[in-house]
Amino acid sequence: MNAAEAAAANAADSPENGTAEASATEAIYLSLLSAIMEHRLLAGTKLVEERLCEVTGASRARIRQVFARLAHEKLVTLVPNRGAFIASPTVEEAHQVFQTRQVIEPELAATLARHATPAKVRSLQRHVQEEDAARARGDRAAVIRLSGEFHILLAEMAGNAILEKVIREMVSLTCLIITLYDRPGAPACPEHEHRELIAAIEKRDEGAARAVMREHLEHIEGSLDLTVTEVGAPDFYSIFNKG
Ligand SMILES: [Zn+2]
Repeated sequence: MNAAEAAAANAADSPENGTAEASATEAIYLSLLSAIMEHRLLAGTKLVEERLCEVTGASRARIRQVFARLAHEKLVTLVPNRGAFIASPTVEEAHQVFQTRQVIEPELAATLARHATPAKVRSLQRHVQEEDAARARGDRAAVIRLSGEFHILLAEMAGNAILEKVIREMVSLTCLIITLYDRPGAPACPEHEHRELIAAIEKRDEGAARAVMREHLEHIEGSLDLTVTEVGAPDFYSIFNKG
């Protein structure tokens, strides 16, 4: 059980006041988000409302609230009369996600290089050590999640809450895109590149930080097979589940 799941379990037992309800909803949201980030929930998977009610002890209304939030973030697709499915971003959407990241993240890296402090650098280094540990014990799910969270941490540290929110959404979408279009054996984020980025930030070298981030995003996109010409992955649920 991870932290978010523990929080969900606790929150489900809490008295039904407004705050407890809000934190229970948040905890269920975070559990689903981390499952997406760790590829434990794959694109196209149906999210069965009754099953989630059972497991979390939450009401249908609360589960629907969580679905609505995930749908707003484009991580879940709501299909009338059929339910909620983990989204399957199309090739076109995948290109748009990387284009968005290319516009924002090199600038965030440069901003961070400009305002680097030893404390921020240490906290980035600690994060990369966690990535290494997960890689060493062969925990691919954790490597994928931690790789994404490194980018969220950078955005957080750069100190623009609006851009941070965009990056959070883009990183989650990238996780789904990786499950759909990954070439076999391709890593989530190429090893060592996060360290190169930290080195540039530590040196307060804005130009290098911007360039390393730009290349890093190119490498992630390059590890995907986005050459397919059909629009999106096949939606087997709509093919086999009529209603
Ligand atoms: Zn990365």
